Order: sequence, then C-alpha cells, then structure tokens
Amino acid sequence: MISEGISERDKKHIWHPLTQHKLHPTMLGIKKAKGALLYDESGKEYIDGIASWYTCMYGHCNDYILDKVHQQMQKLDQVVFSGFTHEPAVRLSEELIDILPGNQQKLFFSDNGSTATEIGIKMALQYHFNRGEKRPVLVAFEEGFHGDTFGAMSVSGLSVYNGPFEDFFISVERLPVPNEKNIEHLLKFLETRLAKGDIAGFIYEPLVQGAAAMKMHDAKHLDRILGLLKKNGVLAIADEVMTGFGKTGSFFASDRMLNKPDIICMSKALTAGLMPMAVTSCTQDVYDAFYSDDIGKGLFHGHTYTANPLACTAALAGIELLKSNEIQESIHRITEAHKSFDKEIKNHSKVASTRQCGIIYALDLDVKMERYGNLRDQLFKHFMDNGVFLRPLGSTIYISAPFTISDKQLHKIYDTIKSALEAL
Ligand SMILES: *Cc1c(COP(=O)(O)O)cnc(C)c1O
Repeated sequence: MISEGISERDKKHIWHPLTQHKLHPTMLGIKKAKGALLYDESGKEYIDGIASWYTCMYGHCNDYILDKVHQQMQKLDQVVFSGFTHEPAVRLSEELIDILPGNQQKLFFSDNGSTATEIGIKMALQYHFNRGEKRPVLVAFEEGFHGDTFGAMSVSGLSVYNGPFEDFFISVERLPVPNEKNIEHLLKFLETRLAKGDIAGFIYEPLVQGAAAMKMHDAKHLDRILGLLKKNGVLAIADEVMTGFGKTGSFFASDRMLNKPDIICMSKALTAGLMPMAVTSCTQDVYDAFYSDDIGKGLFHGHTYTANPLACTAALAGIELLKSNEIQESIHRITEAHKSFDKEIKNHSKVASTRQCGIIYALDLDVKMERYGNLRDQLFKHFMDNGVFLRPLGSTIYISAPFTISDKQLHKIYDTIKSALEAL
C-alpha cells in the first residue's frame, strides 16, 4: 500500500484532520475515483462504502455533474455574493425550496457543515435577541455531532477530544435521545425546564446521528419533543448535513415528522461530493425577525466563497439526479438489499444489534472497541485489504454507499463484512 509517491511526500508538510500523526503516520494516496470506486497509487481499487463521508451519492466524477460544472466554469467562476447575485444561486434557491419541507422560505449560503450549523445557531440566538428576549441557552442531544467550529463544538455531545475548548462553549442543556422508555420522562423534564424561558433553540440530527455511529431514533418520539419545544417559542434547528438528500428514504429526514424545523442545515451531499458548500434554510418568521430599518438587526455573517457559482451548479445537477426515476429506483433497490442482508446477519453470534434507515445500514459488534483503538484499526485493515472502504466507528460498522453502487459491489461489501466477522 505504501510507496515512494504522494503518500511519502505527504508526510513532510501536511497536517491531516482528526489525526494523531504519531499514532497514524501514513496516509493512503488516492489517485483517481469513478462511480463507487477509489483507486490508490498502486492501482488497487476500493469500493467507497461510505460515499467519502456521504458526499458523492451519485458516484465519484459523475459525468453529468462534471459536464454541467464544466459549462458553468466557462461563464462565471466566482463573484462576491454581497450586493451581487447569479443564475446558479437563484436557480438553486428555487430547486431547494421545491424539495425542502413546505415551511422553508429563505436560504443562507456558506461553505461546509460546521458553518451551516454555526449559522443556524446564530440565527436562533439573534432571532430572540432581535425580538428583545433574553434566551442564551441551546438544547441538544447527548452524542450529537454538529461540526468542529466553536458553536458547533458547543452543541456536539461527542466531545471526548474537545477538552481544551470547553471553557469557551455556549451554554447547552443536553437531552438523551428519545426512546419508548424515556420519552414521557423526557417530556416532563422539558416542560419544567422550559418554564425558565431561557431556551433559544434545539439543534438535532433528525432520525440518524451520524458521528455517534449511526444511532437511530423514532420519528414519533422526536415529533413530540419538537411539538413541545415549538409551542414554547424554541426554534427547531434540524442538522440535515448527513441525513439530507435521499439517504433516509425521503428527500430530508424532517419529512417524517409533522412538526417541521424552523431552520435546516445542509451540506455534504448537497454538492454531490464535487465542491464544498452549505446552505442554512429558514422560515419566513425567522427571516422577518432580522428584516428591519435597523442595520444592526441583520445577520452580519458571510464567507468569501458564499454561493460559489460552480458549487451551486454541482448542487443543481445533484438535485436533478436525486429527483430522477433512476436514482429513486436505486434508493429503493439498496434499501431492499440492506433488508435482505440484515436478515442474514442479525442473528450472527458476533452481532449485537442492527439498524437501518433508508440506505443507511449499521451493525454493532458484540465486541468492545475503542473509537480509535487497535481492534477498530484491524477491522479497517481487513476491509481495505479486501478492497472495501468502510470506516468503523468503534464497534459499529456502517454502510452509506453511493446511490449508484452496483448490486455486485454492494454484495462485495456484505461479503467482506461477513468475512470480517469470521476473522474477529
Ligand atoms: C459532517 C457533519 C457536520 C460537519 O460538517 P463539516 O462539513 O465536516 O464541517 C455537521 N453535522 C453533521 C450531522 C455532520 O454529519
């Protein structure tokens, strides 16, 4: 796997994300990608079982998307989005509003999932501030993940490595994820807690908590929590950075609840893995709290590459594909394939539990592992040696492959998971 190529040269100057370089000094050099496949420097291929962090859902280097972006590139590459606008952004706003829950009305562009949630948090805090209410606290789920900037870190429960920053966090009330057993207690607790009137917003990953190892919860419980919070003027901020764009079986996970979010954060699959971009959408009511003769009531937040025309074009092409019969049929095909695999594997002696939401499938091993421990690394190595890129989170193995993955590739992933269980 290791050669004198980019993998070696990488070591000299590059500092990688989420990496302790002393323990993990070597990065695998990837030379090209096409469809569901990644190719390393030596030409070995890997099935991208997690769609490179759930971004390239229509396959890597998708010809249709590449062609659209290539055409746009020759017309308009980049322009300031303060005081200017352009066709790709306007068209994207129309297309997004068309597939988002019906109460969404305005879109704020940024660059990545963390900025999308950061902006959602700022919208919620300033919404109440502009209306003359003092509400400095946010509610979030334990084990949620919303990104790595300060606001996003504050509301993320998975803060094992956030120690150095905790003194600077926003004030957060944490809730366990709801289930059949705790829901009544949870609602009662919230009712009492809400009486203080200091809660601005509730940020949550609807239905599936990605970084928490694809933990899933029921729509009906989440819906009751949303109902109670909304009745008390708390803004619901759905972080759909992972769940958005078809993975849960509907366009957005929020489609499954009756209580719709006031704010929705999108990124990752938004731009089909081609370009980084994010959008935070909101209702007319949220927008109206900022609309004023007073300049200070505006949302003074902006990033240089906001609504980059090329990224907007990639997003437009992605949404067009998402709505196509071909992709909708693929989502159905993968969902059914996972169900059959689940029947086969769920009673395996080394499998503790399994779960599925749309094309997202996860299984917990009956073996204790640390999130970044040795056993987890062995498992990862087994997958890679067999040409399958899966990224176990502790003792959880999950699949979130591109919609365009073939049946043959999908079954190779299943077979490799089975052989990994035997090798454990
Ligand atoms: C990945 C992720 C983020 C952060 O997005 P980045 O683009 O990595 O900053 C936020 N929320 C959720 C649910 C995510 O999965």
